[in-house]
Amino acid sequence: MEQSLDGGVSLSALFSWFAATRRPLPWREEPTAYRVLVSEIMLQQTQAARVIPFFCRWMDLFPNPHCLAAASEDTVIKAWEGLGYYSRARALHRIAQIIVAHHEGRIPNDQKALIALPGIGPYTAGAIRAFAFHERAAAVDANVSRVITRLIHPMTREAAASIVEQLLPQEQPWTTMEALIELGALVCKTTPLCSSCPLADQCRALASKTQEIRYAKNVIPKTSLWRDVAIFLSQGTALVTRRSGKQVMSGLYEFPYFDTTPQGSAASTLINALQPRIPSQLSFIASLCETSHSFTRFHATLYPTIIGVEEPFAWPDGKWIPIEMLRDLPFSSGHKRVLEAWLTTFLPCNALRA
Ligand code: SF4
Repeated sequence: MEQSLDGGVSLSALFSWFAATRRPLPWREEPTAYRVLVSEIMLQQTQAARVIPFFCRWMDLFPNPHCLAAASEDTVIKAWEGLGYYSRARALHRIAQIIVAHHEGRIPNDQKALIALPGIGPYTAGAIRAFAFHERAAAVDANVSRVITRLIHPMTREAAASIVEQLLPQEQPWTTMEALIELGALVCKTTPLCSSCPLADQCRALASKTQEIRYAKNVIPKTSLWRDVAIFLSQGTALVTRRSGKQVMSGLYEFPYFDTTPQGSAASTLINALQPRIPSQLSFIASLCETSHSFTRFHATLYPTIIGVEEPFAWPDGKWIPIEMLRDLPFSSGHKRVLEAWLTTFLPCNALRA
């Protein structure tokens, strides 16, 4: 199979390389439209190796759109727990409900109909058409865009998509598409491994030693957050809150938390600040080790304190849950760590904070 990019680059070496190195990813082995859809949504923001166990578990829980559409939001969010960017889980849930209601449970193969679904952009729509329906469709994500930019010249993702559309062959176009995606994921990475690249002898960026200049990634620094976390315990239950609406962590459970200083508050300071808001006596039980987690553009450090209280009390969006049921709830990743630290190790630390 022989095509050329921009009239000069032969891709034959790419096909040989791909045939030899193609990863046996579970969604590639049986590329139904539903499996491609789920994998592509999971692969947004997340690397393939990390997605694999989540994908396999998801397919066990929700083997088809009907099962997913019928599941409760809590069940769907719980299945996504640990993968981050939970809006993707909600979008998949909504997609399943839409295609069951309006497409007889079948994922459409039309670009317009696909893009009309929540969470699906031109790349994901192209990937579904290429890999599930074997159409001659371009799926240009950041990886492929980077490859094309380095091979030929700097350009927008839209321009890269236009070039890829031209080079896709009539015969097995999905193989070309997959090979380019694989090259971007494994070799032509942000820091490229040019010595392992099948296209090295044709790459303009490598010839001019401008790989980094041709691909300038926009690195957005994360904003730091510091939060005191209060684990209120009363009569065998713990107080948790559940975010609602369109908030970042919508659908996930957390313990009540409060913005604090980079060092975290002393437990006594936290309890003294909370006591006037709570109609029952508070008592210090323990401080847990600080933990941290990143989400979207934030990096949060959490300082958890376990606080006893005589009677459960009302709290905005709060619920008192029996302690043995807490692990059944979908928690945000940082608060999941706090929960596990409490339940499994319960190692009070940082006595100075008490
Ligand atoms: S030679 Fe280097 S920069 Fe060029 S396509 Fe290959 S990995 Fe990317």
